[in-house]
Amino acid sequence: MFDANISGKFWDYLCGFQPASLCDWPGKVSAVLFFGGCNLRCPTCHNASFAWKNCVSSNIDHLEVLKRVQKNKKWLDGLVLTGGEVTIIPGFEDLLRILSSIGLPMKIDTNGQRPDAVELALRQSMVKTIAVDVKGPWNKYPHLCGGLVSSSEARYRADEIFGLAQGCPERFMFRCTRVPGLTSDDIQEVRSYLPGGFDLHIQKYQECLENGLS
Ligand code: SF4
Repeated sequence: MFDANISGKFWDYLCGFQPASLCDWPGKVSAVLFFGGCNLRCPTCHNASFAWKNCVSSNIDHLEVLKRVQKNKKWLDGLVLTGGEVTIIPGFEDLLRILSSIGLPMKIDTNGQRPDAVELALRQSMVKTIAVDVKGPWNKYPHLCGGLVSSSEARYRADEIFGLAQGCPERFMFRCTRVPGLTSDDIQEVRSYLPGGFDLHIQKYQECLENGLS
């Protein structure tokens, strides 16, 4: 049972809650928590309405959300934390600690730009899966991420995460969304970046009116 008295700035970033999802953690029924804010500005972003806010303050009652997750725990397989970008939330490690106390396995979605935070997440035993986006070939990162990460930064950070993943491969998955402009050769190149034994999960790009792209 979680401690209802624990508060933190990180709750201000809670922007959405889906009580049950069949698609956010392959093969599992999961509750999904959406957190706002992101360190990238991908032009193809599907959640720009809350991911691109620098200052997030939602009206969601986190205690009600946690109580609902607790109540549904018996038929849930896990809890997914997604965004936005959860690794940039102030107090991210404390947030993981609190959510761990619910007793459900957790999956974290990340854009891979904070290997230090990914390393912290690995210390929490309830974090069972870290799904890392690899956006495309290194030379396309600036374009794919709204100019907020250089090719060399993308490569360096991904290499850090690949190193972590080699230490506990069962806790990582790597994904690439086939956004407009990404070719089959690009996907092949991304696949070649992964350490041995990892598959690249290709996600279909869904048109999104929110970001003005189609
Ligand atoms: S990393 Fe994800 S949430 Fe952030 S801007 Fe890109 S697509 Fe949106």
